Amino acid sequence: MEREVLRLAIQKKGRLSEKSLELLKAAGIRVDNYSQQLLVKANNFDLELLFIRDDDIPEYVQDGVADIGIVGENEILESGKNLDVIEKLGFGKCRMSIAIPKENSFNSIIDLDGKSIATSYPKILKNYLDENNVSASIHFISGSVEITPSINLAEAIFDIVSTGGTLRNNGLKEVEVVLKSEAVLVANKNLSDDKKELLDQILFRTRAVNKAKNNKYILLNAPNDSIDEIIKMLPGAKSPTVMPLAMEGWSSVHTVIGEDDFWGKIEILKSAGAEGILVLPIEKIIA
Ligand code: ATP
Ligand code: MG
Repeated sequence: MEREVLRLAIQKKGRLSEKSLELLKAAGIRVDNYSQQLLVKANNFDLELLFIRDDDIPEYVQDGVADIGIVGENEILESGKNLDVIEKLGFGKCRMSIAIPKENSFNSIIDLDGKSIATSYPKILKNYLDENNVSASIHFISGSVEITPSINLAEAIFDIVSTGGTLRNNGLKEVEVVLKSEAVLVANKNLSDDKKELLDQILFRTRAVNKAKNNKYILLNAPNDSIDEIIKMLPGAKSPTVMPLAMEGWSSVHTVIGEDDFWGKIEILKSAGAEGILVLPIEKIIA
């Protein structure tokens, strides 16, 4: 029997494309010559890439045209498709918010009752308004939603926001954050055992890569009598490595530290006597 190949749908061109390919590359999956074709087989893994518009990814994965996909949570919610969300991927982060002209007042979501709101995400908006017992008329617009209030097409908008710059440029202010979103790995609910096995192999690799990204390798020198105190602040992967320096009475400490922890601890480490602190990136962590 021919070996099964797992088919991954990713965005052909857009904000998620580069990061999706980067993740595969970091996981050691090589794909050449993908610029022209829509369906490309990886060189060294039983994986096929299908390049499509992000709007189509939830449906393709639900229907089994693709087995897995990388797509924003916002697109999954809007599609209403039934998928297994396997893993958050830590990129493509954004929020979806309601915004109104900056000179208008706003106290609560109830103020939007009876108003018109333009959006490319009518389903998510409708659910949110229903949950809050607000009845507003929703205008579906496929793009450039942010200009609709200035041309009197709508009194408010519901759209993706990352920095808020686009809103400000269009005289709008963000008044209600409806949801936060990032790229996730999704899978069809009925994968064969062979395909599940391939998915597990990919996950093993991407998890090792993502875990490494959130951690740093730290090396520092300290006088021997402050080593105990320093080690208490650096729990490390298992236990830090301590090695004597050539200089009498000093040691070098090596360990792994969470990126988020690092800045919080640096001053305390220094005041405990740490010197020559080096922080290095890690490529992969296999726990
Ligand atoms: P396609 O042609 O594939 O339909 P698109 O125009 O719908 O592309 P992009 O603008 O490339 O989509 O955005 C893809 C996804 O990236 C969004 O659905 C969202 O999950 C995420 N994203 C993150 N930040 C932003 C942002 N500032 N603006 C828009 N999308 C963002
Ligand atoms: Mg799209």
